[in-house]
Amino acid sequence: MGGEKRRKLAASETPWDDVDAAELTPAQLLVRDSHRSIYSFRHEAHEGDVAFFNGYERESCPFCGGELVRFGHDRSGLQRYRCTSCRKTSTPVTGTIFEDRKLPLSAWADFLAQTFSYASMSLMTWEDRRSDTTIPYWMAKLFSVLEGVQDDVVLSGTVWLDETYVSEVAGELWHRPDGKLPRGLSRNKIRIAVGVDSGGRSIFVNEGKGITTTARTWAALGAKIEPGSHVIHDMETAHNKLVKELKLVSETHNGKALMGVPDKQNPLRPVNRMCFLLKEFLRSHSGFDREDLDGWLDVFFVTMNEPEDKLEKAAMVLDRAMRCPKTLRFREFYNVRPSSRGSD
Ligand SMILES: [Zn+2]
Repeated sequence: MGGEKRRKLAASETPWDDVDAAELTPAQLLVRDSHRSIYSFRHEAHEGDVAFFNGYERESCPFCGGELVRFGHDRSGLQRYRCTSCRKTSTPVTGTIFEDRKLPLSAWADFLAQTFSYASMSLMTWEDRRSDTTIPYWMAKLFSVLEGVQDDVVLSGTVWLDETYVSEVAGELWHRPDGKLPRGLSRNKIRIAVGVDSGGRSIFVNEGKGITTTARTWAALGAKIEPGSHVIHDMETAHNKLVKELKLVSETHNGKALMGVPDKQNPLRPVNRMCFLLKEFLRSHSGFDREDLDGWLDVFFVTMNEPEDKLEKAAMVLDRAMRCPKTLRFREFYNVRPSSRGSD
């Protein structure tokens, strides 16, 4: 073995770049070609990232909202802007969830497609990467991007309504003064209103802990159902105000009486099915922080609603992340929850 020290290869190089392919062993060929293809994939992905970011023109300063002027490009090729008020410079990435990214956006696109692919959700919990800090960190970023995604949804036509519950995690359970756990729909249960309509839309709203009230149900659903719709539901009295105020055509069924009825004949089937899928979804993330319930409900909302294809969903979310004006708040969110801090 020669004493001469070999020059360290650059990331793009292989030991066989100057060797004719005919002289290489099958194993060397395989390693060389796979390295080249991975390198070029990473490299192209990076160039694609710059084009993606520059495709979103900044309309105002992310620091003060002031007017911007173009100010050249940074070293990576990102458009730079300078604020005419506070003089600070920014790029399209400043203040978005991608500001501190270390991986190409293709990794994000992959994460999103996986998150919105219902079938893979339970798998994700078992995979090693679930315990990695990356996934919870990205998930928190995703929650901040999705915040408000259900705001403009109004169910119409025929609307099925029901509720489902999720329990507090073990460490957060409320105990009675005698140390025992309360029974029934106690404050250890969080109520989620579920609505489905004949147009295939669905909504999932956190109604808070314990038994709901008419006022809470009204706050959760009052703006989410078109007045005059035909509503099919159980005999939940908390819905009374919805029916009255929105002049809904109400069709009630006794949930208990329907228990033996075959699924296909059950008039509440569309919403029952959605409650079942939601429970399965939440179960596949069973240890999740209940403070993040709204975020998980938004993820489930995107999973169950249009656009249908998971790649379209990923594109929709990436677009929303760039247009979302409140992403600067994400940093504050992490400042108050340092224990949740991760890295990517
Ligand atoms: Zn400014």
